Amino acid sequence: MSKGIPPIRGMNDILPAQTATWQQVEAVARDLFAAYGYQEIRVPLLERTELFKRSIGELSDIVMKEMYTFEDRNGESLTLRPEGTAGIVRAGLSNGLLYNQRQRLWCAGAMFRYERPQKGRYRQFHQLDAEALGFAGPDVDAELIFLSARLWRELGLKGLKLKINSLGTPESRQLYRKKLVKYFSAHAETLDDDSKRRLAANPMRILDSKNPKMSGIIADAPLVTDFLDKESEKHFAGLRRYLDEAGCEYQLEPRLVRGLDYYTRTVFEWVTDQLGAQDAVCSGGRYDGLVEQLGGKSMPAVGWALGMERLVALVEQAGLASGQATPDVFFAMLGEDAEFKGMSLAEMLRNNLGGVAVECNAGGGSFKNQLKRADQSGAKLALILGAEECAAGTIAIKPLRTEEPQQSCEQGKLVDRVRQLLAADETDV
Ligand code: ATP
Ligand code: MG
Repeated sequence: MSKGIPPIRGMNDILPAQTATWQQVEAVARDLFAAYGYQEIRVPLLERTELFKRSIGELSDIVMKEMYTFEDRNGESLTLRPEGTAGIVRAGLSNGLLYNQRQRLWCAGAMFRYERPQKGRYRQFHQLDAEALGFAGPDVDAELIFLSARLWRELGLKGLKLKINSLGTPESRQLYRKKLVKYFSAHAETLDDDSKRRLAANPMRILDSKNPKMSGIIADAPLVTDFLDKESEKHFAGLRRYLDEAGCEYQLEPRLVRGLDYYTRTVFEWVTDQLGAQDAVCSGGRYDGLVEQLGGKSMPAVGWALGMERLVALVEQAGLASGQATPDVFFAMLGEDAEFKGMSLAEMLRNNLGGVAVECNAGGGSFKNQLKRADQSGAKLALILGAEECAAGTIAIKPLRTEEPQQSCEQGKLVDRVRQLLAADETDV
């Protein structure tokens, strides 16, 4: 059988069997953002290409090889957003949200990167972003980390490990960069092609190489933390103290650099050993220079982004997915009179029993087929309305998950009876 027009490689449909877990994660996250005073912002999927070049960096992997860039009908170069921060800062500036104001923001949505698709790595994927703009101290770095740690806890996830590092300021990095170039140049013969390219363009990114052949030479490379300026050192010590005081465990990872050029001082990553090669679930850091770089008044900022596909996979693998919602009531209706009466009774139930899910049979079918559907729906009760019940002004109620016998109920008492039966069912479990 033809499967129609094929989907685009690396772009997934998220099917009903999976959306329940997505909603579960989103609901927990939404509540936590509110609990920490973060407000939602929604920004376009498309931005001017220039925005990403100027923020993420012309020489970053994302800008050099991963962006979906095209010209629109006016010949303007546009790009599908590969990450959220640039668009959020752009929106903050465009709308005057950053003018002498501090903002705690979050954003959810699809991101696009032209990468080689594999498990946990897709061309359309989804992130949750949290950003705190206008805060200079390590207290907010810690707050953002606490927020993410709480998210894992509330979802029931164990085994995520936090790695932290400090990259210092652009000035303090100059000296480090020189040392690094010198070191890697001295080992030029052992560098892979990617690293050779990075050596000229962006030597710190060599430390981020995932090629196992590079791990030896990376292990002996000079460390960025040995080149920190006094203020960055103090900031980093402050962050560690906040984490220590709150009992938030972390690992110092002096080789942790991030794929986006705009990071300063704090960077961090939450990793897991349960997802194979794609081990980063959430990563973030401070980007004190970005707002100014995008045309605003200088403003410190820090944020993180988590990969929804990877987080959802963790929740599912750990058996923590809450599963698909099932209807409470399935409404079987036999014959024309019953269908007309039944649909309006179902509306009455929904009017009076907020939150109770009623699935109507719709489209006719034999008694046997309708009861089969009722059973498959997972509903607790089947309501059965036939010609006889219509004539008598009654309706039959059949418990589907217990041995209790079917009962007849006056239509006028249906709301109360359904409420009682569902409540009894709740207390049983
Ligand atoms: P990686 O090292 O895995 O490529 P990254 O450093 O490029 O990740 P960020 O740009 O910091 O990732 O994005 C934050 C999070 O988004 C990552 O930790 C990851 O969970 C998720 N992510 C990034 N790229 C992808 C992708 N192509 N498919 C699915 N999730 C992704
Ligand atoms: Mg990447």
